[in-house]
Amino acid sequence: MFQEIRDIIERGEKFLITAHIDPDGDATGSTFSLYWVLDSLGKQPCIYLRDPVPYMYEFLPKPPRVAHGEIPEDRYDAVFALDCGNLFRVGNGYEKLKDMGPVINIDHHTTNEPFGIVNIIDANASSVAEILYGLYKTMQVTMTYDMAINIYTAIFTDTGSFRYSNTNSQAFLICEEMTRCGVAPSYVAQMVHENHPKERFLLLGLVLATLETLKNDTIAMAMVTQEMFRRTNTSKEHTEGFVESVREIRGVDVAILLREITGSLYKISMRSKGNTDVAGICNLFGGGGHRNAAGCTIDGTIGEVKDRLKEAFKIE
Ligand code: 5GP
Ligand code: MN
Repeated sequence: MFQEIRDIIERGEKFLITAHIDPDGDATGSTFSLYWVLDSLGKQPCIYLRDPVPYMYEFLPKPPRVAHGEIPEDRYDAVFALDCGNLFRVGNGYEKLKDMGPVINIDHHTTNEPFGIVNIIDANASSVAEILYGLYKTMQVTMTYDMAINIYTAIFTDTGSFRYSNTNSQAFLICEEMTRCGVAPSYVAQMVHENHPKERFLLLGLVLATLETLKNDTIAMAMVTQEMFRRTNTSKEHTEGFVESVREIRGVDVAILLREITGSLYKISMRSKGNTDVAGICNLFGGGGHRNAAGCTIDGTIGEVKDRLKEAFKIE
């Protein structure tokens, strides 16, 4: 499965590594780990993430060549698209990627389009980092601390700190190995979960005040508006973890966070417990993800967006 990628890496020199907009721990840790691996092989990697790395991942050993905003247009021996259910997820300018080099798609979303020349899609993998670890193993890479902490953090965050149903034995085995490369689990947990600015909690207070429940308290929904960001001097990166908080409510099967982008465009994040397939619901709106964690954007006023969501969940 990895042979083709190994050949491309061996033959090539310049590589672009990219992942989805609003990078999470897996997008960040996976791109960074692949950079360090290619760098250790004497290659010239470069990373493109449209949006800045959120503050909670700033502790990760960051490579020197990470571009944000505009895609660094060039010819590459391969373009790695990581953690992207479709190429659109890379953000504006994604259409140009295919002209910049052969695209290698490595992903673990259930809703993945095979947009690459090589497509490694494993919906059973906890994270893209888990798939990459398998690749690194077959390449006999010498694991450094910089690679290990990126891999560990990607798995740790994509499994919701080993809580979600994608937490498999492979995730533990890899993370155990990463601790032997020097990663301290308590340090990563502290950086990810206990290192938030005060403003984030002021924002969380406003968001939780909007909490409403539907379908006999089995669906919980909260909202974050641009006005709340202004009032608390925060931005979207401070909302990471909010939808997970709503999911903690007893009896709630589906947690939904609506984030206002503009007055007529909302980013929706969904989390579920058990069998409810939120990727299927988000797919109805052109989004996707995993069975228990998915997202989409919906056009309309807040009232219209809520109505469309209720319709999707068949709520009167
Ligand atoms: P989040 O709610 O944290 O933004 O995303 C949850 C999961 O759904 C992630 O795996 C993310 O990649 C995926 N996801 C979020 N938004 C979208 C979207 O608009 N389209 C697709 N295809 N996947 C999304
Ligand atoms: Mn992921």
